[in-house]
Amino acid sequence: MFTRYTLLRALRRLHALRVSDPIDEELRGWNWYSPPLKPRAHLGLGVSELVYGVCPTRRDLWLRRVAGVEPRPTRAMAVGSAVHTLFHESARDVARLLASGETPWDAACRLMVSSEKRVRRLLGFNSWASSLYRAFVLAWCSSAAELGSAPWVTEYSVDGSPLGLSRRLRVDAVADAGVVVELKYGSWRESYPVALAGYAMALESYLETPVDYGVVILVDRVEERPRVEIEPVYIDNHLRNEFLQVRDEAIDMLLTRSEPPRPRTCPRECPFREVCRG
Ligand code: SF4
Repeated sequence: MFTRYTLLRALRRLHALRVSDPIDEELRGWNWYSPPLKPRAHLGLGVSELVYGVCPTRRDLWLRRVAGVEPRPTRAMAVGSAVHTLFHESARDVARLLASGETPWDAACRLMVSSEKRVRRLLGFNSWASSLYRAFVLAWCSSAAELGSAPWVTEYSVDGSPLGLSRRLRVDAVADAGVVVELKYGSWRESYPVALAGYAMALESYLETPVDYGVVILVDRVEERPRVEIEPVYIDNHLRNEFLQVRDEAIDMLLTRSEPPRPRTCPRECPFREVCRG
């Protein structure tokens, strides 16, 4: 689980990496006005649509941005959205009770008792979702009891426009000491740290403060029970360059407006299958 203590312990492993491979000044977000950060065009792109696209030819991005086609939400997208709702709302519920003077353990007890009702009201269904809500509540309350910290700022809004990104980027959370957090449902993917690099540079351009570390919180369901793990990430030069390359290729493709071809096979989870494959 992601109590403040476990987070700090996980990040400790990264300090040596940072010392041996420091971040180049030109890759800091506050240098957005010069290459390689300066974008070729300001198209208001989202980090997730850049990094998590499933189409090998980037036709998904073209469909959304040039042809104006909305994706058809898949089951995985719906579950991911529910996980985000529980993460955000549990943090808000705990913060509200702590602010009203409740102790962390009283807050935990109260929210545990009402969890099923609360989750049904939020999502319209229950099952394993209320267990996940309780796991989040316990994590926030443990951190508050252990070290006196309030829940993280979730759904942190940041203006990514200096980097050619959206004016209203939503970072899943910003944890202690400016650690950027990405919340994902399912198993690990290599693209998660690349998304963290995009958010980190956007935060650096916005706050003019270094963001060197991130964590991916991975939520999964094992035998109808939620499993929550955290993976620490040093947001190094390689990840930053990888994000910028993805961004620049996407901008070039969108500026030409030419329609990308259909690949021979399409991933099952693509939300545009109906449009492209009928
Ligand atoms: S359905 Fe196939 S061609 Fe269309 S966006 Fe998805 S992966 Fe690309």
